[in-house]
Amino acid sequence: MTDATTTVAAGGETSGRPARTTVEGVLFVDLVKIRARYDCFRPGCPQPVESPARGDDLEDFIGGIKTDHLARFHGEHR
Ligand SMILES: [Zn+2]
Repeated sequence: MTDATTTVAAGGETSGRPARTTVEGVLFVDLVKIRARYDCFRPGCPQPVESPARGDDLEDFIGGIKTDHLARFHGEHR
């Protein structure tokens, strides 16, 4: 059985910033079991692991990482 887990680095989008190698967070998307989890590696993060999401929640979940988690806990507005 093939494990089709895809790992996407979140927060790495460079918008006018120099490329960095620091991993700030990792978004896990499991295409087999249809679930996702976000691990935040930023120092001092009060909520380093977001709740899992699946199915129709995935899109909102991924969008929520940027608009909710990063904005609320790290003051990053994208
Ligand atoms: Zn965080």
